[in-house]
Amino acid sequence: MSLDPNAALVLFSGGQDSATCLAWALSRFSRVETLGFDYGQRHVVELAVRPSLLADLARQFPAWSAKLGKDHMIDLSVLGQISDTALTKDAEIAMQENGLPNTFVPGRNLLFFTFAAAIAYRRGIKHIVTGVCETDYSGYPDCRDDTVKALQAAINLGMESRFVLHTPLMWIDKAATWALARELGGETLVELIRVGSHSCYQGTRETLHDWGYGCGACPACELRAQGWEKFRAA
Ligand code: ZN
Repeated sequence: MSLDPNAALVLFSGGQDSATCLAWALSRFSRVETLGFDYGQRHVVELAVRPSLLADLARQFPAWSAKLGKDHMIDLSVLGQISDTALTKDAEIAMQENGLPNTFVPGRNLLFFTFAAAIAYRRGIKHIVTGVCETDYSGYPDCRDDTVKALQAAINLGMESRFVLHTPLMWIDKAATWALARELGGETLVELIRVGSHSCYQGTRETLHDWGYGCGACPACELRAQGWEKFRAA
């Protein structure tokens, strides 16, 4: 099984983090494919913005356009069926007894990485890129550096391969993620991500705030708004 060392598969949900990771991959690798998961998330609008975000990126960055390959969408609705969380059921977002918000979907990233590797295996892609981060996150244990490193080892053992799992945002906060976007694609990319990406858990795209679209009140919006403010103040 030969994996192309110049190819990357980006887990691209349509949010700020994964859009920045996509630009990061496009600036480093010569062939980049994208992957999205439909797991019955309430903020399914996140998936709806993916095609236009990809099209805008290709239109405004011709050099990247040439590298952009296939976009894969995987139906993981079974995950929504077996989990009882505020992201997959109509429930109020709240903190649980174990200190994790009920937006945590158990097994989500473990499955995402495994499916990503299965696709990368078929497509001969060596690098897998994801926007998980443990700097200013919700405490999701499957976003942690140790989890990703353990998964890389497990996947490589289980598929007898040498995939590299990249997490360019692991140690930076949301403000630094905006700064990274500016470094990669200037204000054009910042504006594209601000208006084109979606992070809000409620799936609201009615009001365009300084920091982008969203309800302005959910944890994802709060984090995004704070990061934008800090980025612009810097
Ligand atoms: Zn929101």
